[in-house]
Amino acid sequence: MMKQNLLALSFSEMETFVQQIGFKKYRAKQILSWIYQKWVKSIDEMTDLSLTDRALLSEKAEILPLKIVTRQKSSDGTEKFLLGLEDGNKIEAVFLPEERRLTLCISTQAGCTLDCTFCLTALEKLKRNLKVSEIMDQVLTVQREHPERRISNIVFMGMGEPMANLPAVTEAVQRMISPTGFGISPRKITVSTAGLVPQIEQFLASNEPQANLSISLNATTDKVRDQIMPKVNKLYPIKVLLDALKKASLLSRRRVTFEYVLLAGVNDSLADAIRLVRLAHGIRCKFNLIPFNEFPESHYRRPSDEQIENFQKTLLKGGLVATLRKNRGRDILAACGQLSGENK
Ligand code: SAH
Repeated sequence: MMKQNLLALSFSEMETFVQQIGFKKYRAKQILSWIYQKWVKSIDEMTDLSLTDRALLSEKAEILPLKIVTRQKSSDGTEKFLLGLEDGNKIEAVFLPEERRLTLCISTQAGCTLDCTFCLTALEKLKRNLKVSEIMDQVLTVQREHPERRISNIVFMGMGEPMANLPAVTEAVQRMISPTGFGISPRKITVSTAGLVPQIEQFLASNEPQANLSISLNATTDKVRDQIMPKVNKLYPIKVLLDALKKASLLSRRRVTFEYVLLAGVNDSLADAIRLVRLAHGIRCKFNLIPFNEFPESHYRRPSDEQIENFQKTLLKGGLVATLRKNRGRDILAACGQLSGENK
């Protein structure tokens, strides 16, 4: 009989499972706490279960953690983990230590549903959606390698389009925030999307405690957005996307973040900045500007520092909140849009 991977079980499934193998229901909590709070990767380490119980549990179940294929450390401390899935696919997770927070950037798909022309992940076709366990286990796997401090922030900005795998993303967020789970505040979690409108609406309508939402806008006209984000913008052009966010803005005080990748000569003009101010009208939001991170296969360029600064100033003058994303991990291709799941 196949052993049950304990990481694959939701909390209620864990209760059912332990009872099926003859344990009392409360054991589920104990086991969950070993997995999500003490980050163990084997049943042997669950020392408040008796030896007999551990033996019984090991007969029926196992913990199948992701494999660390390689890890690379950048000169700025950023670390990129190439992680192996059971079926041989590979994904990447990026660890971003700072003095006041430890952020982990995680993947939701092997490859990506979309075809954004400035993103390295898009060069690979979609292999498959990640399972809940594979999304959640990126956090546990990297945390085990850095046991000295707790991961404080999680961003769904690695490989893949989270909204194309929304059920698994939603369940993973629940495991992250539950007090029986990893126990992190939903305010410290951000889910990023290229703009799949029906899923965004579903995400915003949910009654569960919610993670922050980030939208990769990246252009101010459909002409440019069709070029750089063809698939998603044909389905949901700028107006459709922004109208949905305006509607949500009327109903909730939550603020969305717009990510805006700056591509020299493509979307970085001052006319673009002025259009952005207009487009953002009526949406509770802030902007995060990401100067393009170059990679060998790309023909786009990063704008000059002066151009970036002027773009940001125009947004600020227009009354928007706009920050500049630090380009961490660029030397190891671990920055935004540089994740490929390849062993480079
Ligand atoms: N698919 C989701 C999650 C990926 S997040 C989304 O699109 O939001 C990755 C972020 O990095 C997105 O905001 C994307 O626009 C940005 N990005 C992609 N490639 C980049 C690159 N080469 N340089 C800088 N930012 C990039």
